[in-house]
Amino acid sequence: MTARLTGAAVEFLDDLQRAKQLADQTIGLLGKTQQPPHPRNFALLYGYFSRKSPSLTRELDQILKTGTPLSDAALEALYERHFGGAAEVQAIHNASGVIEAMLDKILSQMGEARDHSRAYGQALEDFSGRIEGDGGAPISLEDLRTALTVMLAETRKMESNARRLETQFAAANSELVELKQSLDQVRLEAMTDALTGIANRKSFDQSLADLTKNTEIWPLSMVMIDIDHFKKFNDSFGHQTGDQVLRLVAQTLVDCVRGQDFAARYGGEEFAILLPSTDLDGAYAVADNIRNKVAAKKITRRSTGESLGQITLSLGISRYRPNEDVAAFVSRADQGLYLAKDHGRNRVSSVETLREIAASA
Ligand code: GH3
Ligand code: MG
Ligand code: MG
Repeated sequence: MTARLTGAAVEFLDDLQRAKQLADQTIGLLGKTQQPPHPRNFALLYGYFSRKSPSLTRELDQILKTGTPLSDAALEALYERHFGGAAEVQAIHNASGVIEAMLDKILSQMGEARDHSRAYGQALEDFSGRIEGDGGAPISLEDLRTALTVMLAETRKMESNARRLETQFAAANSELVELKQSLDQVRLEAMTDALTGIANRKSFDQSLADLTKNTEIWPLSMVMIDIDHFKKFNDSFGHQTGDQVLRLVAQTLVDCVRGQDFAARYGGEEFAILLPSTDLDGAYAVADNIRNKVAAKKITRRSTGESLGQITLSLGISRYRPNEDVAAFVSRADQGLYLAKDHGRNRVSSVETLREIAASA
């Protein structure tokens, strides 16, 4: 039996026994740290024990290692960072409130406009009744003047109502434009990795689903990328310097791909690229170019200029097979990546054809 539940950063897909074990560990730690076992805390620590999100593992490991007591605020901040979406949900909630209030306002303004035009219609009818006079007798000049004065006043009233409504509609329109802009911003943030500024995993998964369905851009290929010995780099030079390296790798990816290609941070120190209209040879060329560019960079510590050596990448490539499950497509790129690690790292590999690997050896 499996439990499928997806947080922003972690997919919980564990068999019953493993899930029970993780739940026990979760409850144990919540008890030990005297934190309430409500869904937020439970999901966070379950995610931590499952060790599927390296960045969550690392952050919480650090907190626990230093012996800092867990606080509600710290857990909330961690949850927000790793399971995210709270800001998005809040913005959507706010937006729907604004839209509802605006619809009410617009409906009542339309009702008002309808009342005005009915009143004006009535005034016109009265006017035509008056100028026709009684029993066909000609209307006196005095009565005509009075009727015209009334009609003129009604017309002016109608005109000013129309102007007021126009202003109100224009205000509602600009409120809607503003709302759309802030929702677009929320959507963009929800799809962006905060550390590197490139697309995040959620965004990658969405593109993967879209592109594998779009026959026009086949052949579709993928590059899966993992930084070599990154744990050692972090341990030697600190996580902040490690974060700078993640930014540098992300920037190199962006520099090395074309407009329709899609580069994302897949998680932790892993990145992935989708390459539309690109076969395996093309994917190899892109991957190897990235590998070369990163390996050629001289990593230095910003503050001191101290040289920190070289960063290398292992990369796996795969090509989408029409109608296959997207997971199989990702898995082949992953297998290529493992192969690259096994063959000594700092290389591009694929389980689909070994021709390119032979060429690069
Ligand atoms: P390998 O060559 O086999 O890939 O070794 P590795 O050390 O890169 O792999 P491992 O999976 O053992 O460690 C990955 C490391 O990536 C552990 C973690 O410290 C680091 N990492 C993951 N996310 C982040 C991050 O957001 N910032 C920093 N600085 N490091 C991260
Ligand atoms: Mg890794
Ligand atoms: Mg690695």
